[in-house]
Amino acid sequence: MLLLVRTRPIEQRTRKSDGLSAFIVDLREAIGNGLTVKPIDAMINHHACELFFDNLRVPASNLLGFKVVLDSMNAERILIAAECIGDARYFLEKSTEYAKSREVFNRPIGQNQGISFPIAECFAQTEAANLMVEKAAGLFDAGNPCGPEANMAKMLAADASKAAGDMCMQVHGGFGLARDYHIERKFRETRLYQVAPISTNLILSYLAEHVLGLPRSF
Ligand SMILES: Cc1cc2nc3c(=O)[nH]c(=O)nc-3n(C[C@H](O)[C@H](O)[C@H](O)COP(=O)(O)OP(=O)(O)OC[C@H]3O[C@@H](n4cnc5c(N)ncnc54)[C@H](O)[C@@H]3O)c2cc1C
Repeated sequence: MLLLVRTRPIEQRTRKSDGLSAFIVDLREAIGNGLTVKPIDAMINHHACELFFDNLRVPASNLLGFKVVLDSMNAERILIAAECIGDARYFLEKSTEYAKSREVFNRPIGQNQGISFPIAECFAQTEAANLMVEKAAGLFDAGNPCGPEANMAKMLAADASKAAGDMCMQVHGGFGLARDYHIERKFRETRLYQVAPISTNLILSYLAEHVLGLPRSF
């Protein structure tokens, strides 16, 4: 496990990120020796756990530093953003197929603009978000700073997949809720990315304060 901890008292820091360090923790040694892991039964098929620390000892040789965390956060955001684009495309494909094949009153439901326009709108939103994902990934691969782009990619792609998931449920009518179609499962999964690994509000806060120079709120 990668663990971020405070290694210098908060009063002695000069910047907010001062005195934070990442360690590798060997779970096989730590569990039962200062670390308790309690699985959380969650709405999605994801192994999330609550961790309790009580005088856990970690060897100094397991110290990774702090910068590694910042670098890995950008990579994680780009990775999740790409996953969201994949989810959005899944919803778009399912919706398009269903809108062409499902007939109500002797015509495919996709002939109604009330159905086709939301699909087209989600398609445009997804492709636009994907451009930001590509930009962030390109900067990261070239070893360039990409904090704003990685955060914007994650937010825009998460919003695109959430919108596409909602649209897909609507296009499928009652069958959207049927487990056999897997849409309700993906719909639940994609909701996660409004919150984790960073919530949308904190991305907006980062953009407002660190990119646009607006006053800090906390
Ligand atoms: C399935 C799952 C897997 C996870 N895996 C990991 C993992 O592997 N490693 C890990 O470290 N964490 C993991 N997490 C935790 C996840 O990163 C956090 O849940 C997420 O960052 C949000 O933090 P929080 O839950 O503490 O919410 P809080 O910080 O309590 O925020 C609650 C709400 O208040 C809003 N909020 C908080 N502060 C502000 C503010 N200043 N201004 C405006 N709004 C604000 C947030 O946007 C959010 O909507 C996981 C979570 C889930 C659900």
